[in-house]
Amino acid sequence: MKIHRPIFFVFLVMFSSFFWGQEVYTLKDVPNPKNIDGGWVSDPANYLTSEEIAKLNTIINNLEVQTTAQIAVVMLPSIGEEVPKMFAVDLFKEWGIGQATKDNGLLILTVMDQRRTELETGYGLEPILTDALCYRIASQEIVPHFQQGQYGTGLIAAVSRIKQILENPEAIEEIYDDGAGIAFSGSSIHEALAPLYIYLLIIIGVLYFYFSKLRKIDQTKDDFYDKFQDLLKMNHWIYMILFPLPFILIRVLLVRSRLKKYRNHPRYSSKTGAMMFKKNELADDEFLKKGQLVEENIKSVDYDVWATEDLKDVLVLRYAKPFSKYSKCPKCSYKTYYRAHSRIIKTATKSSTGLREETYECKNCYYHKVKTVIIPKVTSSSSSGSSFGGSSGGGSSFGGGSSFGGGSSGGGGAGVSW
Ligand SMILES: [Zn+2]
Repeated sequence: MKIHRPIFFVFLVMFSSFFWGQEVYTLKDVPNPKNIDGGWVSDPANYLTSEEIAKLNTIINNLEVQTTAQIAVVMLPSIGEEVPKMFAVDLFKEWGIGQATKDNGLLILTVMDQRRTELETGYGLEPILTDALCYRIASQEIVPHFQQGQYGTGLIAAVSRIKQILENPEAIEEIYDDGAGIAFSGSSIHEALAPLYIYLLIIIGVLYFYFSKLRKIDQTKDDFYDKFQDLLKMNHWIYMILFPLPFILIRVLLVRSRLKKYRNHPRYSSKTGAMMFKKNELADDEFLKKGQLVEENIKSVDYDVWATEDLKDVLVLRYAKPFSKYSKCPKCSYKTYYRAHSRIIKTATKSSTGLREETYECKNCYYHKVKTVIIPKVTSSSSSGSSFGGSSGGGSSFGGGSSFGGGSSGGGGAGVSW
């Protein structure tokens, strides 16, 4: 069968444009202009003329000499399903655009099939080239030209305007400044502090909840013993872990004294109405049972004994110590049970589990129990550096004098669709 030559040719063009026009670029495919011609423009599918590329290179070279800031311009037919913004962030990191110490790089990435252009700024440029300003430049210089197919004109206009802004004497100090005195603009200082604001709001909420609970405990008609126990629950360690500063202060300044107040508040007998007196430690022994005395001796529980003068009403109040190696005995129920001995019968290795024998004893009733506990296999704790060793820092992979400066981006910038 003979195929007519012009039809075959049309097919070939359609096919090749299908494959070439839609060529999907991954991060590693994007040619780094620094490695090719030492320029700033990567345009593998030739959307720009060589004159336009030369013009862009001149402007950006000039800018680098004046300010050390760097701009990379990238035109790609397609990045498949990737999101241009994320691609820009990754490419920025991969190449390390801008000086490493100043992070004063800018990437202008255009993805043709998505009709999208991203301006990705390094940390050091963000105070000057704010997200809002990037958006304004992109929508005024890029969008109208790109819609007409004048990609080179749009890019030259955008880059020229960026150069003007960066070379403005007010801005130049900030680009030159070696990081120490980076002046944040009003909006970015708020963005930087956002997590702090949220944390403070949460603290205020928790404190409000906490104080209203404290107030409720203080105002109830409950017995002071119950108030004491309720307040003790409010002294939970989780508050200290999450909000150490306010809650250590609250504990020292407020909770401790209030616990003491509840514990020593004057009492009256519920039977006779007579005033009760708190017995001192020695005098209270005669009112305690043997198990309670053991608990007091080993300091797992503290007892307060209150009695009327005529001893017609005696009240024994139990205050368990929160941190104690003793627990409740399964036999006599006093807090006198503890792990007395522990010995290893078989050591654990990498291939087999081990065994440990634990002996529990009660200091009160002498009940004792031997438990055999399995020791888990030994896992090698030092993995041989395979997980993190291979990752390279921003832009360091393109070594040599002709690479970008090693700057990194903070995800700032703006994108436009055209
Ligand atoms: Zn016991």
